[in-house]
Amino acid sequence: MSPARPPAVRRLSTLCLALLALAAPAAAQADTRLEAVAALQAKAVEWRRDLHQHPELGNQETRTAQVVADHLRSLGLDAHTGIGPTGVIAVLKGARPGPRIALRADMDALPVTEATGLPFASTARATYRGQDVGVMHACGHDMHVAILMGVAEALAGMRDQLAGEVVFVFQPAEEGPPEPGEVFGARRMLDEGAFEPGRYLDGPPDAILGLHVWAGLHTGQLGFRAGPSLASADEWSLTVTGRQTHGSRPWDGVDPITVGAQILLATQSMIARQINIVNTPVVLTAGQFQSGVRFNIIPDDARLVGTLRTYDADVRQDVIDRFERIATGYAEAAGASAGLQVVNNAPATINDPELARRVLPSLQATVGADNVIEMPLQTIAEDFSQFANAVPGAYFFVGTTAAGEDPERMPINHSPHYAPDEAALEVGMRAMLRATLDLLDGAQAGR
Ligand SMILES: [Zn+2]
Ligand SMILES: [Zn+2]
Repeated sequence: MSPARPPAVRRLSTLCLALLALAAPAAAQADTRLEAVAALQAKAVEWRRDLHQHPELGNQETRTAQVVADHLRSLGLDAHTGIGPTGVIAVLKGARPGPRIALRADMDALPVTEATGLPFASTARATYRGQDVGVMHACGHDMHVAILMGVAEALAGMRDQLAGEVVFVFQPAEEGPPEPGEVFGARRMLDEGAFEPGRYLDGPPDAILGLHVWAGLHTGQLGFRAGPSLASADEWSLTVTGRQTHGSRPWDGVDPITVGAQILLATQSMIARQINIVNTPVVLTAGQFQSGVRFNIIPDDARLVGTLRTYDADVRQDVIDRFERIATGYAEAAGASAGLQVVNNAPATINDPELARRVLPSLQATVGADNVIEMPLQTIAEDFSQFANAVPGAYFFVGTTAAGEDPERMPINHSPHYAPDEAALEVGMRAMLRATLDLLDGAQAGR
């Protein structure tokens, strides 16, 4: 998940009342099968701290994958490893037939030097894109892995009572592959047959659930919304080619810097004037603008690199088409040329409306309806969307800011100071377990 200051969350709005009306438990409801989780909390803390001290960058999660596979095998599951390239998949078959529910956790850490000062802080280092960097679970994926290991143990203990199958998916490289332009973890696992019938699973999952720890919510709170939730993320690169000349005599050449600036400003006008942003917000940002070597030389070319965020595949393509026309038109008008390349890192994460209708009551039953916060749209992205585009998906947030602290002021995901409250492990395990059991039971309204 890419870095972003979480916007203020708000209480469930009237928008969500229709969903609430379907099944609205006033407070957390007991399910004796969830009692297993309390006994797993101490283990989950231990797993999480071990993972935290041994963070691994994307596609290098070999130790993490081994820890996961060893655990799954200790539960009697057949763990498949080396998928895309370090992913792990295992299937828990219940005693009776029923739906096939996939649960996903991402395993990778970030090139961040930890500054939490915790006794189990990471001191790991690695080479990232040619630089020596600190490595830290600054996005909390160590929490995700520990939560799913715990859920697997709880479910394995009640295998005889289950109708259906649970598929555990531990994926690499959610934050991206080691080199730009390579395929992200979820896409690569799918490309390598993760959901292909007969490969690891008998058939594609009926649904997939994912979660993310989140400093913007208190421990004990869950965040969720139906429909579009997280943005798509594209990395774009624009090259403007002009003709080099003396900075005092611009008429002798073609200035690519001015043309690049015009194109960038025109994209902002395009979004404001040409795109219907009421239903589908769009963000187009340049993060790099590189050109030239000296104050009095107009260089040959300029390069702009940035990101595009949308919530709709058609809008995304429309913006890219307009961006290309703007780039070509402005360049041509100035006697320059321009080339735009766009690489999609993740599609928009869209919570399947029907699945969301079934998962929301499970989340409410876990923590109480008042503690399920309707999340605003997030302009961050998640490659969980690749799985959720393959089968119906639902993705929720697990608060990690302890009571008494202000979620708005706490170090957020990707910060070197991000230190999630470990009590959130138990909340995450309960929510994931409850949602899974309810989907298997078909006990929810509307099934
Ligand atoms: Zn992240
Ligand atoms: Zn993340």
